[in-house]
Amino acid sequence: MSARPPHVIVIGAGTGGMCLAHGLRRAGISVAVYERYDTRVDGLLGYRVGIGPTGSRALRECLPPELFDVYLATCARSPRWFNVITQRMRQTASFELRPDTHPVDTERSVARMTLRQVLLTGMEDVVHFGKTFTRYEQHDDGTVTAYFADGSSTTGDLLVAADGTHSAVRRQYLPHAVTRDAGTINIATRIPLTAQTRALLPERLQRGISLIFGVGGMMGVLHVMEFKWDGDGRLKPGVGEADAALLDRWPGLAHDPTRDNINLIIWSTARRFPPDVMQRRGEELVQLALELTTNWHPHLRELLARSDPASALPIRVSTSEPVPPWKSSTVTLLGDAIHTMTPGRGVGANTALRDAALLCRQVRLAAAGDKTLLQAVADYEAVMVPYGFARVADSLNRSGTNGDDRMYKPVVGRLALLGARGYFGVTSRVPPLRRKFVDDFYTYRGEED
Ligand SMILES: Cc1cc2nc3c(=O)[nH]c(=O)nc-3n(C[C@H](O)[C@H](O)[C@H](O)COP(=O)(O)OP(=O)(O)OC[C@H]3O[C@@H](n4cnc5c(N)ncnc54)[C@H](O)[C@@H]3O)c2cc1C
Repeated sequence: MSARPPHVIVIGAGTGGMCLAHGLRRAGISVAVYERYDTRVDGLLGYRVGIGPTGSRALRECLPPELFDVYLATCARSPRWFNVITQRMRQTASFELRPDTHPVDTERSVARMTLRQVLLTGMEDVVHFGKTFTRYEQHDDGTVTAYFADGSSTTGDLLVAADGTHSAVRRQYLPHAVTRDAGTINIATRIPLTAQTRALLPERLQRGISLIFGVGGMMGVLHVMEFKWDGDGRLKPGVGEADAALLDRWPGLAHDPTRDNINLIIWSTARRFPPDVMQRRGEELVQLALELTTNWHPHLRELLARSDPASALPIRVSTSEPVPPWKSSTVTLLGDAIHTMTPGRGVGANTALRDAALLCRQVRLAAAGDKTLLQAVADYEAVMVPYGFARVADSLNRSGTNGDDRMYKPVVGRLALLGARGYFGVTSRVPPLRRKFVDDFYTYRGEED
């Protein structure tokens, strides 16, 4: 059994790493996080992340209760409809989602930057910025040392890789693990939400998650993100007293540039994009998005044309291969660092949060003397690896984020599109099928360990 309480080193102050750090600190376990970015607002963190019951449950378990309430208060207005539309904005299907009255069992829309600010709240003494991890060394006494690009190092009892898809820890620890291109590319854009841009969208699209099934294999997803604060970062009229008090006290709002916006992402097989797409930025990328959507409804094109060029971002979608079992040690991994998945099912962040809560529970057991730290790590990995890679497979195979999908083939693609539209159309019109679709949506997004 562990002779002394463990000190945990976390590499990466992203979604999973910070959730774990909160959980450990709440449990009185020593933890330090090392992040390559220099400040809390660095990085292009513009797009929306959908957090379902799995993610919210993990956050509730790990965050201090008041910070969990801040997380709820900083979510955008929750989606009420799951829509499927054509590139001409004709509605193929529309499913009513459940109201967001429950803190956990609901679907929430979060801005990545806002979630980051929530997770960094009150962690000034835990997070070390400007620390790019380069390598680690495991010692005979059971400790592990992490080294950083600035020449510094730190030693602890457990090193957790929470450093995302291109994890440097994984490269050293599991060099045989394969992360690869899924064959699709996204162009993500953000459009300021104004009276003019709002008027371009019917009510259900304003209040929904809307998937765009376009002809020619050009897909899209649209979310309207409305927050409780206005363009100047001041609380909007009508915000409830409790939320207003919380947000007034929350220092994170001062760091968060997120404002009401429309997220519009288009994607297709990489073959549809010019070879230099990943180098393009700003106006040039917005122009490319417009060229790829010439047959789309004028309102969708107007949204693209009005997008903030600084927010336009090309994303090469990645996935990973299941890793054969390895011998657990004083190094472990969570989130994208071990099971990078495509954004197809919207569960990458949820799964990273689930990992964080699970690992935290295991380290707590070790700290309490109920098992060794090595056993705790082994028990975490035995559960995390199967569900993580199951999510990787679902995300790739059932969502059009695989560049080899039939959807993107010249002739069968047309049939696949008609098939997909037909499936959603029928499912949304037949009440028992519609109910099952919505139930399955929540089951998938709320699965327990
Ligand atoms: C377009 C898009 C939409 C998505 N939508 C959703 C969604 O709706 N729902 C959902 O659940 N998921 C979604 N995801 C997936 C989700 O964003 C990721 O799965 C999630 O952020 C992974 O969290 P993480 O903590 O593992 O890694 P990250 O949040 O990526 O954090 C990794 C951190 O490690 C740091 N880091 C990297 N290298 C080093 C180093 N060498 N040294 C120190 N620090 C380092 C990084 O700077 C970063 O802060 C989406 C992804 C994309 C691309």
